[in-house]
Amino acid sequence: MKNETVQTDITVIGGGLSGVNAAIAAARLGQKVALIQNRPMLGGNSSSEVRVWVCGATSHGVNRYARETGIMGEMFVENQYRNPDGNPYLWDMVVLESVLAEPNIQLFLNTDVHEVEAYGDEDDRRIASVTGWMMGSERRIRFESELFLDCTGDGLVGFLAGAQHRIGREAKDEYNEDWAPEVADNITLGSTLLFYTKDVGHPVRYVPPSFAKDIAATTIPLKRVIRSGDNGCSYWWIEWGGELDTVHENERIRDELWSVVYGIWDYIKNSGKFEAETMTLEWVGSIPGKREYRRFIGDYVLNQNDILAQREFEDRVAFGGWSIDLHPPGGMYATESGSKHLHPDGIYHIPFRSLYSVNVSNLMFAGRNISASHVAFGTTRVMATCAVIGEAAGTGAALAVQHGVTPRAVYERHLTQLQQTLLRQDASVIGLRSSDDEDLARRAKLTASSTLRRLAVEDAAEPVALQGGDVALLVPVAPELQRIELLLDAAAATTLEVEVWSTGRAENYIPHRLEVSGLAALTPGERQWVSIPLAWKPPTAQHGFIIIKANEHVTLYVSHQPQTGVLSFVKNTSTTVSADFSNQDPEQPVVLWSMKKLVRKPFCFRMYPETTAFEVEHVTDGFVRSYGEPHMWLSEARDPAVSESASLELQWQETVQISEIHLTFNDDVNEDLINLHHHYTPFPVIPELVRDYRLEAYVEGQWVKVHEETANHKRKQIHRLPTAVSTDQLRLVIEATNGSLHAEVIEIRVYG
Ligand SMILES: Cc1cc2nc3c(=O)[nH]c(=O)nc-3n(C[C@H](O)[C@H](O)[C@H](O)COP(=O)(O)OP(=O)(O)OC[C@H]3O[C@@H](n4cnc5c(N)ncnc54)[C@H](O)[C@@H]3O)c2cc1C
Repeated sequence: MKNETVQTDITVIGGGLSGVNAAIAAARLGQKVALIQNRPMLGGNSSSEVRVWVCGATSHGVNRYARETGIMGEMFVENQYRNPDGNPYLWDMVVLESVLAEPNIQLFLNTDVHEVEAYGDEDDRRIASVTGWMMGSERRIRFESELFLDCTGDGLVGFLAGAQHRIGREAKDEYNEDWAPEVADNITLGSTLLFYTKDVGHPVRYVPPSFAKDIAATTIPLKRVIRSGDNGCSYWWIEWGGELDTVHENERIRDELWSVVYGIWDYIKNSGKFEAETMTLEWVGSIPGKREYRRFIGDYVLNQNDILAQREFEDRVAFGGWSIDLHPPGGMYATESGSKHLHPDGIYHIPFRSLYSVNVSNLMFAGRNISASHVAFGTTRVMATCAVIGEAAGTGAALAVQHGVTPRAVYERHLTQLQQTLLRQDASVIGLRSSDDEDLARRAKLTASSTLRRLAVEDAAEPVALQGGDVALLVPVAPELQRIELLLDAAAATTLEVEVWSTGRAENYIPHRLEVSGLAALTPGERQWVSIPLAWKPPTAQHGFIIIKANEHVTLYVSHQPQTGVLSFVKNTSTTVSADFSNQDPEQPVVLWSMKKLVRKPFCFRMYPETTAFEVEHVTDGFVRSYGEPHMWLSEARDPAVSESASLELQWQETVQISEIHLTFNDDVNEDLINLHHHYTPFPVIPELVRDYRLEAYVEGQWVKVHEETANHKRKQIHRLPTAVSTDQLRLVIEATNGSLHAEVIEIRVYG
């Protein structure tokens, strides 16, 4: 046995997605980081040991333009590239390699931290070290750092340090939350074991173990969905232990979950109700996936009202968008729906003050143990949200170490630097504008080889009858709208009604206020382009939500050629309880107006007058996500048969020294990517991403190549030049995309 000491700037305990993202963020900012994980794999509940699929702000395709960027975004895009079928082992490798790529991280797998040395009064504690035992290696390792991040989910480190926390549900009147119970209690969400099955092509017998539960004697078959071909997280509802202590009774909970898993398989194989003769169990989890335990108290406790109001915290450092998703205390044995969902009108913001301890001055946290009420935790708990919180916490931790201050002092004195650093990293924050004075691109004059100004989708592929209900189109209105034309069939003479609604907040994409409506008298005929007058000039450029009212005589067309900046919606007619027995109010606007059937399928339309939404100036306007406008440059459509390049150029009034160039391409954050098998996205690379490009500087009267990239599949590329270049002109030449007809660029940053 060995006793060792490891000294780093920051120690991150817990290698779930929150800890992984925190460690990478801090390491990329130059801090030495120890990342400690008590299991063989990284990824926490998403790892192949548990196999929960990683959800986030898109909320399974409910929220628009909501997929995460930054480190989590890189992982989504990389996983899609390597693992579009959602193999859990390949996902493990994406997470592991993301960590191994960082030379500033020392990774300690199989190392369980269960000792904490902390000192100070109850309301002003400080952690000196944490100690872990590396299983299989007989190494007892003491970790000393300036700052510690508890990303363990369960919160043992903070607990041992004396950090204020709570377990269970707050009373309704504590934060005025109408989804909270009248009286506070200790109830949490329960834990789950998942399983995978496969078809081996010949009959397979199944003899259940003696402890398998007789599922037919429970309410499970009546109240939960059981299908023979389902795998993994489709069985998220095999949940139990919310009325127990999910940590101290973990072993008892596992045994109950195993009895149900093997009982469900007995029911599928042997009840005669399923076609499962050639099916076998391929994998059964043995580590219960824990949903909830301690939640630390920070300087702010995020609550239900913040989520629903989408409160714009001055210290917002991350966003989420999953519904508030709470489960009944009885879990799988409850006769109510397995989950109930409450959606705000779009994404919501997460404040930095919820990421550090109120009473342990060098303790931060990220993931499911942040400072949030039980109800707010109901949404922040999904893993892509835990991950973006991790990136924000890791960034805050790095700045705290850099300045030699506490995380609270980062909030009080370095908040602008924190938010600007997050923007530079392309992290998941919405509505903040970059104001980086070191970015030379902001002082350059921009020109482009061409710019998309005529916004139209004309390539009809599929009819959509309007008799099914209202449909809608989201378009950028910049600077104004005068009329649109729609491609349609009219079976009889009729009047088509169209309305333009503003969306309310810049991060929302729902009909909020009626701005103008228009009518068109239709005569019978097929494939007519019909003009509808819709004059609206908003005070600032923003999205318009154009509703085309149901009409039994009219059929519109959608294209299979997506158009960046344009989305299509169908007004839902679904009921409260969905096919998977989850419960949600269908009138919530983001649910009511669904884009799921029409992702990447815009209605055929033409918009007048020409738009300024895609002018080249957007690449330095400080926004890297859709927010009121798309905030990107699009070239005119290029003919795929002709290999013509598109380019954009930066010109300075004086010579500048360039040593680093940041490029952010469009990876269509509206596309809902997922790590495991929830749904299949057919393209390994997002088609809107630029594929082949080069950077050229104008030196001594000619263009000189300073960098070239082929086969790019990433959203953000940082090119550090081997030697700095002096020039007054720089250009990005785009030779090919991964499928889009347009060259699409979100941001260019240039540093000396
Ligand atoms: C069955 C189930 C279904 C869910 N459904 C979804 C879903 O569909 N999509 C979604 O995104 N989220 C879902 N969630 C929620 C989500 O999985 C969790 O909220 C999320 O994993 C929390 O991330 P985290 O990084 O905070 O913690 P975790 O993922 O729990 O990771 C914490 C890690 O820290 C390690 N650790 C703990 N203690 C120590 C210690 N003392 N020393 C060292 N390491 C330690 C643990 O082994 C673990 O790997 C679900 C959860 C469960 C259980």
